[in-house]
Amino acid sequence: MPAARPTNWARNITFSADGVHRPASPDDLHALVAKSPHVRVLGSGHSFNRIADVDADRGGVLVSLSGLPAGIDIDADARTVRVGGGVRYADLAAVLHSHRLALPNMASLPHISVAGSVATGTHGSGNANRSLADAVRAVEILTGAGETVTLARGDEGFEGAVVSLGALGVVLSLTLDVEPDYEVSQTVFRELPFQGLDFEAVTSSAYSVSLFTTWQGPHFDQVWVKQRHPDPVDFPWAEPATEKQHPVPGMPGVNCTEQFGVPGPWHERLPHFRAEFTPSSGEELQSEYLLPREHAQAALAALDTVRDRIAPVLQVCEVRTVAADRQWLSPAYGRDTVALHFTWVADTARVLPVVSLVEDRLSAFEARPHWGKVFTTAPDRVVARYPRAAEFAALAGRLDPEGKFANAFVRTLLDR
Ligand SMILES: Cc1cc2nc3c(=O)[nH]c(=O)nc-3n(C[C@H](O)[C@H](O)[C@H](O)COP(=O)(O)OP(=O)(O)OC[C@H]3O[C@@H](n4cnc5c(N)ncnc54)[C@H](O)[C@@H]3O)c2cc1C
Repeated sequence: MPAARPTNWARNITFSADGVHRPASPDDLHALVAKSPHVRVLGSGHSFNRIADVDADRGGVLVSLSGLPAGIDIDADARTVRVGGGVRYADLAAVLHSHRLALPNMASLPHISVAGSVATGTHGSGNANRSLADAVRAVEILTGAGETVTLARGDEGFEGAVVSLGALGVVLSLTLDVEPDYEVSQTVFRELPFQGLDFEAVTSSAYSVSLFTTWQGPHFDQVWVKQRHPDPVDFPWAEPATEKQHPVPGMPGVNCTEQFGVPGPWHERLPHFRAEFTPSSGEELQSEYLLPREHAQAALAALDTVRDRIAPVLQVCEVRTVAADRQWLSPAYGRDTVALHFTWVADTARVLPVVSLVEDRLSAFEARPHWGKVFTTAPDRVVARYPRAAEFAALAGRLDPEGKFANAFVRTLLDR
């Protein structure tokens, strides 16, 4: 019997390739890239669309770097860490913490790979916190021609090279900025009405703020407030929860990081989900839209008009903020951003019409879909929302002239 094809984490995508190659050494990786007409690297497989897939019908291969030595090298004097292309945040964070160092921010889960996360513009929350790609100081790429190219901050093309959609080559390593270790306290507040909401005041009240609504009514069910210790938490708009919370209704709080304002290490508070538990609900689809933060309340009002369509197929919706960055394909490129995230039920047929409806309601705000999540906006409309998209296409043409690292997802966007 043929082996089952590989799937992504959510199992809503079955990849076209028969299997995943796991080279055991850099030489094996080079040889595989040299002999294969098409290559895509799979990170930890947490994206919800075909971004990581390969054109198997054109002889393409799917490659994981998880068999290579992890490679986490700290340069304490330079305040940097160099991580291999397969390293996950959970492993990186543990090593940094043991050296009393830290990253500025994390996504909601530590299970994802660093290279895969920055390739899709993954972000956490915080009015002053940029997307995770912004911490990248240099990227080392194996090209289709077998060359290793390093682009560092300040180099021509660097601002296109981190949020790369996997289209430039194999990311062998990333060098990230680190800072001294710090502690964070996390408090969850309950029941914040939309009426009278001062979005800017709420989201600027702490280092990182995430608001959750099930769209069952015009209110946020939970607000997760993460404050750098010892800065006080001042959140006068809602009452603190008295039991441990999980953002998804019905899921156990034990899966989540420590709450009730107990200070603890940055990497055990900034993600919502603990590394040793299933993140989120585990049975889900996700979509997310990033738009200028000044439109946050208008966008919430626009969605409120269709909440009776959203709520039946929704597990939870999370609203976060992201500071503007300079990566050409970052969904937060050039604009301070509000990110409206939807954890849907795991039912593509029921969810897709509602995804389109949400996109319709948000189109007036030039919403950019998260690259790693489900969206239905036409590729030309998505690309039109990125002023530097043509420069990214030119960079891809320079580093990968034969389109070895393009796939159907990338080609429909970039004409490669
Ligand atoms: C439960 C859950 C929670 C999430 N929470 C957040 C969140 O808080 N914030 C947010 O923004 N997103 C979130 N996401 C989305 C997630 O961060 C992105 O989908 C991210 O890209 C996943 O990383 P990955 O390692 O699984 O990448 P994959 O899905 O495996 O790959 C993503 C892209 O990266 C490329 N890639 C990976 N490694 C390499 C490499 N070494 N070289 C070249 N290309 C490479 C792939 O080819 C692909 O194009 C969440 C997803 C899940 C499932």
